[in-house]
Amino acid sequence: MTQASGHLRDAVVAYCTRAGADPLLVQGAGGNVSWKEGDTLWIKASGTWLADASQRDIFVPVNLPHLQQELAAGRHESKPQVKGEHALRPSIETVLHALMPHKVVVHLHAIEVLAHLVREDFTESLRRSGLQDAFDCAVVDYHKPGVALARAVQAALAQTPSARVVFMRNHGVVVGGDDVDDVERVIQELSERFKTVPLARAGQAAPTEPLVVGDAAYLPLEEPGLHQLATEPILYSRMGDAWALYPDHVVFLGARASLHATVPALTQALAQADAVPELVFVQGLGVFARESFSVAKTAQLRCYLDVLARQPADAVIRSLSMDQIAELLNWDAERYRQAMAK
Ligand SMILES: [Zn+2]
Repeated sequence: MTQASGHLRDAVVAYCTRAGADPLLVQGAGGNVSWKEGDTLWIKASGTWLADASQRDIFVPVNLPHLQQELAAGRHESKPQVKGEHALRPSIETVLHALMPHKVVVHLHAIEVLAHLVREDFTESLRRSGLQDAFDCAVVDYHKPGVALARAVQAALAQTPSARVVFMRNHGVVVGGDDVDDVERVIQELSERFKTVPLARAGQAAPTEPLVVGDAAYLPLEEPGLHQLATEPILYSRMGDAWALYPDHVVFLGARASLHATVPALTQALAQADAVPELVFVQGLGVFARESFSVAKTAQLRCYLDVLARQPADAVIRSLSMDQIAELLNWDAERYRQAMAK
């Protein structure tokens, strides 16, 4: 089996553990890190958490020249070849790491950056940040992760081959560098230059009682701050139009928010629904979920709150289109139409 040499691997694992513990950098299984050693690209496995890097082996060795040849030939759909026997599959975003020429590549949905990537005026805020004077940067529009995104990033890198920062609108950022410290420094710089003071939390107490609606029991979310989404009028009012902002959010939390003005309105909506939503928002009261609502979904909701709470009142937010949402959920047009009509 392919073995990674110690020093670089240790530095990567230490970074993954640090970044994975910071919800402003990593949410759940989101984000991935890679390094290149000769003919091997070591990449985080699909579905694993960066935060677990020091406790379990989350990296998979992939044949780098093979992947580079396939990408150069325009075969972006080609599967990465895993070296040796591995139970884990490489991340769907492996191609982004192979496209970057750098030794160490980190891709994150970093909140301070993502809060700008979801706005119409991102190019303007990038110019104002002065980051383009510090690092060579490329910007790509939103594309579905996988083949379409890989093509767009490849085209952007062909335009700016020296780019070490690739901003992906409505998604996140990819940073390459010579070593872990080098990449970490750039990510810190991005977070600092794009830093926004989030909306202050009002003193309203979080709900403690469950809601029982028909046969369904909904528990108030345990993390008190998350109720802000329902209790802060500016956040609540945005969830209708600015819900689907980036891929992981849609994949984990669905195409739209289940928003209800009152508990009786929720009761009435559920009585008419054919499927019971897992997560519901009751205006002015709080955020409630079925018992099945996972830790990974909670991490995604926290990410969403962190992004939304950083939007100025006059921000023009760019949401994913109906087609982009349907494509992420692998829905056909009819299923999408029905889901949105509810
Ligand atoms: Zn991503």
